Amino acid sequence: MYNPKSMKAEEFIDDEEIQESLRFADAHKNDLAMIDDILNKARQYKGLSHREALLLLDCEDAEKNKEIFALAEQIKKEFYGNRIVLFAPLYLSNYCINECVYCPFHGKNKHIRRKKLTQEEVRNEVIALQDMGHKRLAIESGEDPENNPIEYILDCIKTIYSVKHKNGAIRRVNVNIAATTVENYRKLKEAGIGTYILFQETYNKKSYEELHPAGPKHDYAYHTEAMDRAMEGGIDDVGLGVLFGLERYRYELTGLLMHAEHLEAVHGVGPHTISVPRVRHADDIDPSAFDNGIDDETFAKIVAVIRIAVPYTGLIMSTRETKECRERVIHYGISQISGGSKTSVGGYAVPEMPDECSEQFDVSDSRTLDEVVCWLMEMGYIPSFCTACYREGRTGDRFMALCKNRQIHNCCLPNALMTLKEYLMDYASPKTHAVGDSLIQKEMLNIPNEKVRAIVAERLKEIADGKRDFRF
Ligand code: SAM
Ligand code: SF4
Repeated sequence: MYNPKSMKAEEFIDDEEIQESLRFADAHKNDLAMIDDILNKARQYKGLSHREALLLLDCEDAEKNKEIFALAEQIKKEFYGNRIVLFAPLYLSNYCINECVYCPFHGKNKHIRRKKLTQEEVRNEVIALQDMGHKRLAIESGEDPENNPIEYILDCIKTIYSVKHKNGAIRRVNVNIAATTVENYRKLKEAGIGTYILFQETYNKKSYEELHPAGPKHDYAYHTEAMDRAMEGGIDDVGLGVLFGLERYRYELTGLLMHAEHLEAVHGVGPHTISVPRVRHADDIDPSAFDNGIDDETFAKIVAVIRIAVPYTGLIMSTRETKECRERVIHYGISQISGGSKTSVGGYAVPEMPDECSEQFDVSDSRTLDEVVCWLMEMGYIPSFCTACYREGRTGDRFMALCKNRQIHNCCLPNALMTLKEYLMDYASPKTHAVGDSLIQKEMLNIPNEKVRAIVAERLKEIADGKRDFRF
């Protein structure tokens, strides 16, 4: 049955193959010779199969685990340097006809405040986000063909790109909306979206059906095959994810990597990003009601193993995680984080009062974007607001080629430094500005190509003089 090239969900995410992989890992997880072979293969930076990755995930040997974490860190440095891309979610509407049991937007929730932004409110949200310094958004919406049809989403995207407030601009809009048709994906592509993100929630069909008892999202195959339709609709960059806590994490990691293998096998390009959300407390949702919650140690291991298994795929961690957890896990391969996030509808422009909750979940890291930027730099990371690849047409396999040729140091590092400089000039607090300027000076020396370095030095001066939006 198992066939990564099949277009049928139950064949490329074959339950029997997952069960067999779980049994195999149970039998061999502490076979040190086998773990060594896998680690040696991973050191060639070509990734791992789902079975190999699962073995690393399950390995209990303390020394080998140290090697696994160290290798994840090394791969992250090699492929992404010390850059961390920043973004924010923008909630457009919490109207939803699905009944996902973990999400407070579910259709049966009668007391949550339902809200859908008008175009004027979208503008106000975007202005507030631009004033924080954001350049990249992920729009979020419930599924409701009457309240949030695709035309509404497209209108919002148009509005978002049109707002030019002071020196601000949203240069990349990623989209996290329910699974839809090829035709609608084509419309999203035409509207100029970046990545299409859709979390699988769980790869286990039986659990999936129980967790989504009603509504269009109940259909496991339609949901699981969405990325193929998105790619058929012309979207090059797709973002996978599971909601950890719903199902056994070993099952999920295996399914997630099989999904990545399927995309690579069929479309020649794997997922652009993988997200690793964990279920959080929300309005009428108690995360302890789900049996499969994972602790921070397991969470860190999952991130490290994903980093090793798919070196070219960006890894996203959101403000569902605390500052302390983010501080630990970021080193093992995270390449994008959100900052200053609000999960309420309209909450950036008009902060909500405690009694008018429209939030999707409680944010665990509630620091401002400026605090997050400063914290990253103090840990030695370069906060990046770069959106160049997508705007230069380097999407899908063209982005992967850049990554594989390791040209990102001559391209992404300069872009990160220039966009950071813009942030410092326009939005940073005096402290962040000072930390940032010395970081930029230091990091300039790490641009390998001399000519590129000279161009960047010139452009940094121009940015200080008020010019904006340079990119390689
Ligand atoms: N409605 C669309 C969907 O379900 O695919 C997309 C947007 S939904 C607002 C974004 C994601 O939030 C969901 O895919 C789910 O994984 C996550 N989510 C829902 N409830 C959550 C909770 N209580 N804690 C953490 N994440 C949650
Ligand atoms: Fe609706 Fe998405 Fe929440 Fe499910 S996760 S209830 S589809 S908003």
